[in-house]
Amino acid sequence: MMAISVISFIIILVNGIFVFYSIDRIQHDAKIINYAGLIRGSIQRISKLEMASQKNDDIIRDIDIIFSDFINRKEDFKLKGMEKHFVEGLTKLDITLNELKKNIQSYRTNPHADARRTILELSELCWRSANGLVFEAQAASEEKMILFRSIFVVIGVNLLAVAVIIWLIRNYVKNKLEFLATYDALTGILNRHSYNMLMDREIKRRSRYNFPISLIVFDIDNFKRVNDSLGHKAGDSVLKTITEISTAQTRGIDHFCRIGGEEFAVIASETDLTNAKELADRLKMTVEKHDFGMAGKVTISLGIAEYRADETPDSLFKRADNALGRAKEAGKNKVEINP
Ligand code: GH3
Ligand code: MG
Ligand code: MG
Repeated sequence: MMAISVISFIIILVNGIFVFYSIDRIQHDAKIINYAGLIRGSIQRISKLEMASQKNDDIIRDIDIIFSDFINRKEDFKLKGMEKHFVEGLTKLDITLNELKKNIQSYRTNPHADARRTILELSELCWRSANGLVFEAQAASEEKMILFRSIFVVIGVNLLAVAVIIWLIRNYVKNKLEFLATYDALTGILNRHSYNMLMDREIKRRSRYNFPISLIVFDIDNFKRVNDSLGHKAGDSVLKTITEISTAQTRGIDHFCRIGGEEFAVIASETDLTNAKELADRLKMTVEKHDFGMAGKVTISLGIAEYRADETPDSLFKRADNALGRAKEAGKNKVEINP
């Protein structure tokens, strides 16, 4: 679950960075295209106004500002791919433009036809370079737009991943709930709810096939002492160990359940009192002989009853529990039968 959460967090983070980066690039490209367009238009205006003997110094200054701003901020434009090529083209244009400006100055002092032609030629050259830069910037930007569109693919993959994660979590929770509804969380064996269901089912099955059913209930002796002297964790450990060693003694047809704190029940299906007694004795011996480490020796008391025709599950349980009570009264670590 932890791994799934970390993976989905990384996917979302990578996606976020990608979207942020792409938006940043698109904004940046728009700026470059805008700059190129401004330069292209302004160069044309300078020459036109000069030929018409109108003032154009403001525009020349504007172009100078754009140029110096643009070229001085080369670093901002992360000189890679398109930007590198673009700035190189811009530097070349800057040289032609300086040539144009020089010619404009000399034209002002000496306005003869040759100077006029040179201005027009240089202006045309500048326009072509600037126009090339605009197109280049646009083409490179469009290429990046294609990359940007891949965001949708990434988002699609992301949504799919989230759907898979939700499905996995849903399954995990469903399985966990199903497990907890049927089994005991500490020992992993059937819980009280399952005991009730299985007992009902066995009694129904018996009414049809008429086989014996015996119930063994057992309770750990002096279990409170284990908790009091060694702590609750040690008590839990004893409960788990008793479950393990008892499970090994039960048969495939038996249903072994934890029906209370330190109380267990074995629904011994197709088993009469004699055979149930054998099983109960085995359980008692197994626990008695086991070394529980720090907890030392632990014993259990057991009560057995065999199902009587038309009896309710409650009545059967009470009779087995009465036998268990007698086993406790008789000094514990005993098996008693409710005849
Ligand atoms: P007796 O021989 O008469 O059965 O005495 P006992 O001490 O075993 O019985 P009592 O009913 O006095 O105490 C049962 C104890 O079982 C009390 C309770 O704290 C403990 N217990 C019940 N469920 C759990 C559990 O899940 N874990 C632990 N560690 N202790 C539990
Ligand atoms: Mg008890
Ligand atoms: Mg007890």
